[in-house]
Amino acid sequence: MSIEVLESAAAVAEKIDRERLSGKAIGLVPTMGALHEGHASLIARAADECGFVVVSIFVNPTQFGPSEDFDVYPRTFEADLELCESHGVDLVFAPTAGELYPFGTRSVVKAPEIADLLEGSGRPGHFDGVATVVSKLFAIAGRCNAYFGAKDYQQLQVVKAMAKELCFPVEIVECETVRESDGLALSSRNRRLDIGQRAAALSLSAALSTAKDAIEVLGETSAAEVERIMIDILHSVEGVEVEYAVVADLVSLQHIDSISDEVRLLVAAKVGNVRLIDNVGAIPSLRHGEALREKVVAQ
Ligand code: AMP
Repeated sequence: MSIEVLESAAAVAEKIDRERLSGKAIGLVPTMGALHEGHASLIARAADECGFVVVSIFVNPTQFGPSEDFDVYPRTFEADLELCESHGVDLVFAPTAGELYPFGTRSVVKAPEIADLLEGSGRPGHFDGVATVVSKLFAIAGRCNAYFGAKDYQQLQVVKAMAKELCFPVEIVECETVRESDGLALSSRNRRLDIGQRAAALSLSAALSTAKDAIEVLGETSAAEVERIMIDILHSVEGVEVEYAVVADLVSLQHIDSISDEVRLLVAAKVGNVRLIDNVGAIPSLRHGEALREKVVAQ
């Protein structure tokens, strides 16, 4: 394999600086490995927009709680390198924990307020871990575009707010969720589902798309009703344990009562031992024509 893989943060920073000085835009794609077509779509976008693409592969221990799945998180390093090579990645940064946390966790980043909701309430400290590791990657990469998936919608909003608050010279690029043909959002954790659990996991995307239709096609404006629709679908499938199913403001992710503008629908559920999340946007039918016109005018 000819793709360059570096463990040293200093070596990566130096290499990126050289590429930037030679005039190339830098594209950074942070990942925890076990790469799939969702990651590949981020890489493809980065390769389209930037002359030099760096993928980081690091299963970040500080974003996992003590009873979470750090030990069993899928690790497929050789296959990851192949995917990176075949998608035109220029450099893979694969640090050890000691490389990224040389003095442990004394110096950490406290994630912005939005981190306290949803994922944050069920996974205390999770987004502080994400904000800390992403800050380290941004510090190493310097001025760049960084590509994040809407699949982890709250993470995307946390990273956007954190990058702004800490003045990182980083443009956060939002990439759409890639799904299987039956609707299941691609996720590294899907590898841990058996056949029955995979079928049950489809209830997440089914709940979201039914709720989206209720808002966009049927004109439902009550968030409580939309949430009831999602929860009913999730509860109707054996082996699915719902954590939340909410209608939230697009940016603040605060819960809303009445749907009069574009919203985000977010769900989290456990299927067996595997915790899955998914989300979609929904534009109320009243606003649909208007939003489409705005899109056409903007193009
Ligand atoms: P992870 O390796 O799960 O930490 O994800 C790394 C990046 O890939 C994050 O920005 C995720 O949001 C993004 N990602 C994961 N799954 C998908 C997907 N199905 N579609 C688009 N982006 C994704």
